[in-house]
Amino acid sequence: ATPAATMVGTTLGAQNGVLFKGGDVLERAKDVDTVVFDKTGTLTEGEMELTDVVVIGEDGTPLSDGGEAAPDGGQLAAQPQRSEDDVLRLAASAESGSEHPLARAIVEGAEERGLDVSDPDAFENVPGHGVRATVDGGEVLVGNRKLLRDEGIDPEPAAETMERLEKEGKTAMLVAYEGELVGVVADADTVKETADDAVAALRERGVDVMMITGDNERTARAVAERVGIDPENVRAEVLPEDKSDAVDRIQDEGRQAMMVGDGVNDAPALAVAHVGTAIGSGTDVAIEAADVTLMRDDPLDVVKAIRISDATLQKIK
Ligand code: ADP
Ligand code: MG
Repeated sequence: ATPAATMVGTTLGAQNGVLFKGGDVLERAKDVDTVVFDKTGTLTEGEMELTDVVVIGEDGTPLSDGGEAAPDGGQLAAQPQRSEDDVLRLAASAESGSEHPLARAIVEGAEERGLDVSDPDAFENVPGHGVRATVDGGEVLVGNRKLLRDEGIDPEPAAETMERLEKEGKTAMLVAYEGELVGVVADADTVKETADDAVAALRERGVDVMMITGDNERTARAVAERVGIDPENVRAEVLPEDKSDAVDRIQDEGRQAMMVGDGVNDAPALAVAHVGTAIGSGTDVAIEAADVTLMRDDPLDVVKAIRISDATLQKIK
């Protein structure tokens, strides 16, 4: 584009809360044929809330569900059973060492229930999988199936509970104590109000819309369905360090991809994309790696960015 067109485009962008890092990206954005959205914090608000606590009994059956009280004394009373509160307190104490939104929601949920959340004696983050901590002198694991399997704990007794919660679009996490599966906790996030409109507008333009997430397949598909993304366009269970490879693979098919993300995890993927776009409350790292920064937290501004590029380039033809 001529310097004058670039000027017009960047100014128009700025007036709309769309910041282009230079004339090159302003030109590139119009050629985008695939938009890859990060899920958490990009299509969703990224404000998790604890929704479920389920006790998994020694015989592997869920003892309680959702907000209902655990059966007290009842049929399984031979051994004193852990209560929902016990499971939640263990999980929250372990998670109090983590800054992850999933972790914060668990801690807040426990505190709201008036539970005594303590700092873990030892704590380790297992990126993309969960946390490992020492609570009450025992090892607590909170995380996905792989986290438990890697420790030789079979997640199978919680399979039905996990699937049910995931089909509701929730992120369900297993809780283990001293090598034993003791329960499941789940967090839910809200889909952004304009996410479905943004997806629809992009598809109307002939742009393919995809979603990438570290979350599990079922949860990812439930969210994709809500915003109008095809299930086959969902890349789930992608580890933080593998997000940029996933974008590379999408571009290896000859696509011109725009990656839209908000998190530290997303920075490498933003950097390799044809156009990297950081959205809203995005972290500094994401903004630095991006070519476009959307000042507002509105997925519709992704469409705006592409339209501004279009309009600017047409002016000089
Ligand atoms: P996202 O791409 O949604 O930001 P991450 O890559 O951070 O997800 O994590 C992927 C998955 O690993 C989560 O869906 C969850 O199952 C598990 N996980 C990550 N961090 C934690 C944590 N602090 N506590 C429990 N589970 C976690
Ligand atoms: Mg994320």
